[in-house]
Amino acid sequence: MNQVDVTIVGGGPCGLFASFYAGLRGMSVRIIDSLPELGGQLAALYPEKYVYDMPGFPKVLAKDLAKDLIAQGTQFNPEIVLEQTANELIKTEDGYIIKTVAGLELPTKTIIISAGAGAFSPTKIGIEREEDLHGAGIYYGVRDKSVFQGKKLAVVGGGDSAFDWCINLEDTADQITLIHRRDVFKAHEDSIEKVKDSSVEMKIWYAVKELHGEDSLTGVTLEHTQTKEQEHFPCDAVIVNIGFKSNLGPIKDWGLNIVKNQIQVDGHYETNLPGVFAVGDVCSFDGKLKLIATGVGEAATAVCFAKTRLDPDAKLFPGHSSDMEIGTPAAV
Ligand SMILES: Cc1cc2nc3c(=O)[nH]c(=O)nc-3n(C[C@H](O)[C@H](O)[C@H](O)COP(=O)(O)OP(=O)(O)OC[C@H]3O[C@@H](n4cnc5c(N)ncnc54)[C@H](O)[C@@H]3O)c2cc1C
Repeated sequence: MNQVDVTIVGGGPCGLFASFYAGLRGMSVRIIDSLPELGGQLAALYPEKYVYDMPGFPKVLAKDLAKDLIAQGTQFNPEIVLEQTANELIKTEDGYIIKTVAGLELPTKTIIISAGAGAFSPTKIGIEREEDLHGAGIYYGVRDKSVFQGKKLAVVGGGDSAFDWCINLEDTADQITLIHRRDVFKAHEDSIEKVKDSSVEMKIWYAVKELHGEDSLTGVTLEHTQTKEQEHFPCDAVIVNIGFKSNLGPIKDWGLNIVKNQIQVDGHYETNLPGVFAVGDVCSFDGKLKLIATGVGEAATAVCFAKTRLDPDAKLFPGHSSDMEIGTPAAV
């Protein structure tokens, strides 16, 4: 593989904006992501939810925001390497080589790590047949609301995601029941009130103990968490929203300063390794906010500092994009 100016590890919103900005600054770019599609958490975790805090968008569906970020982030034709997990970092004379788990060797002059919470996976209930019925009645997120059209749906969990899906799918599913193991919820008051005022039924103090159905789910056994009494609950879909596990995984072994899964950066978003920057959810500094609006700003700044590392004569300030003809990047 050829050596690029910058490799972006993680194709979420911050990585995509870094890709756009690096293209704007005339840099060659490679994006690596372990998922089969770009978009990060927006696409993988909450595509059907509305986001309200994007500048210029009074409200935007996460999947639409991801689509536009992908269009913007790929307009300078970065090399996109999907389903590859960045595994090993090797220092070279003029940069680094990133080795993926599958063995690809990707040379680069600089790196921007925008790996979010790392490779994430949903917490499972941990009962028999859960793997078998995954996608055939058991779901851990909603990629396509139409899957739940006319279904008798159970949503398991007491946090924001569980409550948000109850509200968002009320018009799609035939009947929704929220199942939670206790009477305390982590969700916002406002969401709890909305669900209480909706057609969603609540089964509080219940946990899912067994799954039924051959090729697809036909029902579950619920157990009262206090009395231990069991009952059959017929349903054809269950969304499990009991959290996500995340792990920075191999990046932890790259020699970076990492505290509590966060890569420490300086005011340039540069890590302790020269030419290696970190932005978005994965980075940490005094005053850090884990928001897209602030993360994309970090990405733009990191790209400009990476640019001056590659070319000490380059200006840090990129100029105004409104003064450029996009398609023929000028701000180099
Ligand atoms: C339910 C929910 C609702 C939210 N709502 C909002 C909101 O309204 N407004 C807001 O501002 N924020 C919101 N957020 C937070 C927001 O989604 C994150 O702040 C944002 O996604 C962080 O972007 P990122 O680019 O840093 O990382 P991510 O979006 O996490 O993307 C990181 C990417 O890196 C990849 N990756 C990780 N490790 C590797 C590796 N070793 N090799 C290759 N690829 C790797 C992952 O696969 C992933 O695609 C919400 C989050 C959740 C879960």
